[in-house]
Amino acid sequence: MSLPASITPELLARLTGMVVSTSGRSVPVLEVYTGESFVDLPQSSPEDVVTAYAEARKAQAVWASWPLNRRIDVMKRFHELLLQDNLVVTDLMQAETGKARRMAFEETCDVVMTTSHYIKAAPRILKEKKHGGVVPIVSTSTEVRVAKGVVGLISPWNFPFATSLSDAMPALIAGNGIVLKPDNKSTLNVAYGVELLYRAGLPAGLVQIVCGEGPDIGPTIVENADYVMFTGSTATGRVIGSLAGQNLVGCTLELGGKNPLIVLDDADLDEVIPGAIMATFLNAGQACMHIERIYVPESRRAEFTRRFVQAAQDIDLGATYDFSPMMGSLVSVAQKDRVESHVDDAVAKGATVLTGGKARPDLGPAFFEPTVLTDVTPDMIHATMETFGPVTTIYGYTDLEDAIRRANDTDYGLNASVWGKDVSRAEAVGRRIEAGNININDGLACSYASKKSTSGGFKTSGVGSRHGDAGMLKYTDVQNVAVLKKQVLSNPPDTDWNAQVEKTVKGLRFMRKLGIR
Ligand code: NAD
Repeated sequence: MSLPASITPELLARLTGMVVSTSGRSVPVLEVYTGESFVDLPQSSPEDVVTAYAEARKAQAVWASWPLNRRIDVMKRFHELLLQDNLVVTDLMQAETGKARRMAFEETCDVVMTTSHYIKAAPRILKEKKHGGVVPIVSTSTEVRVAKGVVGLISPWNFPFATSLSDAMPALIAGNGIVLKPDNKSTLNVAYGVELLYRAGLPAGLVQIVCGEGPDIGPTIVENADYVMFTGSTATGRVIGSLAGQNLVGCTLELGGKNPLIVLDDADLDEVIPGAIMATFLNAGQACMHIERIYVPESRRAEFTRRFVQAAQDIDLGATYDFSPMMGSLVSVAQKDRVESHVDDAVAKGATVLTGGKARPDLGPAFFEPTVLTDVTPDMIHATMETFGPVTTIYGYTDLEDAIRRANDTDYGLNASVWGKDVSRAEAVGRRIEAGNININDGLACSYASKKSTSGGFKTSGVGSRHGDAGMLKYTDVQNVAVLKKQVLSNPPDTDWNAQVEKTVKGLRFMRKLGIR
């Protein structure tokens, strides 16, 4: 197979040249569909990370001094450049991750949507808030939003472009610089996005790219950051969170999930089946919000199972750079082996494979079939751990309360999906699931694409959140600028304290009555 025509040696040289690296070390980047290396990616040393922060800090001082509208103008140009070039990003993302073209294209749209949201919302979110001060009339207090400085942003391979560029957007508009560490497997598409930011007018050096294995350079990234934005596994999130704690910097941790879907007894299966198929198998199941547990009323289980299994069998897999296949490859042979081991473990302990369950080496080294299991019991790895592949389990229920309890019986709390014709009832059920994203009559896109609303993981699925106002404010410190027009707060040396107490008590009572304080 040959790479898409847009991926030229010149492009690859430019993108790999953006990595801050003096180590002389590199790792091969594989075209996932073939397993063949197509370029070497330079690796950064801890010293390179320190250099990257120093450069980003210099540029950030300039960037933060620009008026907000000037920064927003850069992002308007970036928005247009990305719309013009999104198929190049799509090509790179497909080559690096093996995902289906439809999915890769949609991922570029996430960055477009997040950019346009914050272009519009930033002036309101970052606007200074003036309040009456401690003494009415003669004082004011103003909340001013100040950029944190340089954000350490660490992203995973599964949605590399969105978790890098979409999470960078509010940080940049707020006036921050960024040291960005994508996964080694998925750096090139991210670097192309950063190149577009520079073409749009970002000051030189504001976004630095460093590459390496997490344990090698992760600690230096966190130690030098003014804030950390991390997306990845819960296990790594614990490491990042404790490092950030030691350094007393804030962090957002967007982590794993084991997401349930509940079919209610009145659900319209014509809608549920395609929705549940998409929610389970999009990105070959390598999505933090995808569905790995499906709860169906026993009265409808046979029909649901028959139709869901049929639809899973109808999914076409393919290793092509066109829009025809619905599902692509897993990201690597290691990921395929992990998924296979979860299925094998379940089967060895008595689970039934209703469809799939096998690798597809005829298509590529990391392909795995859409897989539906049943008879899964709590002792199986897949029952409780995130499999992160195209595998889900159908469970029956007779009592809705029991289904809700089982949906909540997990350490994770990222996403939940509830389907029913009576939307109010479905929503009431959804609100009882302990998760940061609740999708009624949809699998996951409905909440994820609602950029005005903030969301993040409950329980071990995360700390902090993205999107909405909080998704931008987290990248700022708040400064309280308090002004007294005349000094009336200090007491003269000859103060009569008994009279002063009486006056103060009366004054406080009066102000509460008037609603002043
Ligand atoms: P991972 O935790 O192994 O790696 C994520 C990133 O962290 C990579 O860039 C990796 O190099 C880096 N890293 C690893 N160890 C590190 C360390 N000690 N210090 C600093 N950085 C380190 O996760 P992954 O396997 O790449 O991604 C899949 C996981 O991400 C899944 O659990 C998935 O659910 C989760 N995820 C969550 C969201 C969300 O928004 N909640 C989105 C996408 C993926």
